[in-house]
Amino acid sequence: MTTAYPSETDVIVIGGGPGGTTTAAMLAQQGIRVHLFEREKFPRFHIGESMIPQSYWLFEKLGMLPKMVNSHFVKKYSVQFINPQGKLSEPFYFIDHKPHASSQTWQVRRSELDQMLLDNAREKGANIHEQTRVLEVIFEGKRAVGVRIQGPDGKQQEVRAKVVVDASGQSAVLQDRLNLREWDPELKKAALWTYWKGAQRDTGRDEGTTLVIQTEGKRAWFWYIPLHDDIVSIGVVGGFDYLFQNRASKDLETIYFEEVAKSPGLQPRIANATRCDIFRAQKEYSYKARQVAGEGWVLVGDAFGFLDPLYSSGVLLALKSGILASESIAEALAANDPSEARLRSWEPMFLKGMERIRRLVMEFYHGFSFGRFVRRHPDMKGLVTDVLIGDVFKDEVDVLWPLMDAMRAEMQANTAGATAQ
Ligand SMILES: Cc1cc2nc3c(=O)[nH]c(=O)nc-3n(C[C@H](O)[C@H](O)[C@H](O)COP(=O)(O)OP(=O)(O)OC[C@H]3O[C@@H](n4cnc5c(N)ncnc54)[C@H](O)[C@@H]3O)c2cc1C
Repeated sequence: MTTAYPSETDVIVIGGGPGGTTTAAMLAQQGIRVHLFEREKFPRFHIGESMIPQSYWLFEKLGMLPKMVNSHFVKKYSVQFINPQGKLSEPFYFIDHKPHASSQTWQVRRSELDQMLLDNAREKGANIHEQTRVLEVIFEGKRAVGVRIQGPDGKQQEVRAKVVVDASGQSAVLQDRLNLREWDPELKKAALWTYWKGAQRDTGRDEGTTLVIQTEGKRAWFWYIPLHDDIVSIGVVGGFDYLFQNRASKDLETIYFEEVAKSPGLQPRIANATRCDIFRAQKEYSYKARQVAGEGWVLVGDAFGFLDPLYSSGVLLALKSGILASESIAEALAANDPSEARLRSWEPMFLKGMERIRRLVMEFYHGFSFGRFVRRHPDMKGLVTDVLIGDVFKDEVDVLWPLMDAMRAEMQANTAGATAQ
């Protein structure tokens, strides 16, 4: 149900994805007045279907855990890698690392998960307005003081607030307005995906395994994410120039099947399957804003930054930033001081966590062998796993980076030596 628009409130949230609904729920349950404006009518399609184990704790904080446990989402216990020749690695079971319920996570349809998160925010007392687009954030000097919205009837109105949270995903309303965006210099990737019915599924605890399938020449990789109703989400990620720029005259279907043809690990899995959706593509140049907050405004989720989807970290980062942002906003409101200093208090911790995931993403693209690393440093297996499951907001894991740097340097020296001979 859409409530009437107010003329003023405590907090405005732009966008009803995981980042926005988390921020709204966490604030509303403390009695803070929150109005969330979402331009779409839910449920709506969204990509980002594979969760990672650490999201368990964030769902718990949100009061969403029972709903997740009782949902029909496919249970995910592991990830498994398939090399360009089609050879499968051993599945990597999270439970072997941490014998706890949090080691089982989920493969979701985002239209359904996001609806559940939106309902949860509403139940916690947030005022949710669907089909309401934020046209602009209103500033007085450097301070954000509200938004101009447009409802389903086309009428426009101003709503003022003490804090404006931008959770508009890749639309990143404020990032562009304030010219804050920094593109990742290395992760210039793109993705192309569709959905299959009747594709091969493993059984038992392997049914929900995420497969990462490399293509010949390692120019790209496929995600293979089993969802409920016998659907599998299968998408290819590669350099934007490789996937699209160099094949500008080709349609999405042609490009997709050219990559399938380079993937012996994928072909048998879809041999008897039927494609059941359109092809979708996204340029996903990774980026982040120069700061998470300013005077009266805060960025969460993709509206702050986006990282390559290799380790399925997007929703985790959206939930985490929503929780951290809500804590700083609640403190700022209690002190009647929604200043940049207060609203940015969570920035260092969050940036460190995001950078740690980025490090691991870069290692994959640089051809780093995790198997060899763990054989060389068996005592580090736990910490590598921590990063893989999203347990990245702690400094202990930083001991990994010098060891990884040393091993990569050694690999490069060996390759250079072999080439010179
Ligand atoms: C190819 C690809 C694969 C991915 N795979 C995964 C994965 O497997 N696992 C994972 O965790 N993550 C994945 N992600 C990342 C994930 O999709 C995002 O990180 C996540 O959705 C971010 O949540 P959010 O709430 O910040 O933004 P969103 O989920 O994008 O929500 C933003 C909301 O804001 C609304 N909005 C936008 N502009 C306005 C406006 N002006 N006014 C009002 N409302 C507005 C939108 O309609 C939308 O509902 C993937 C991303 C890509 C591109």
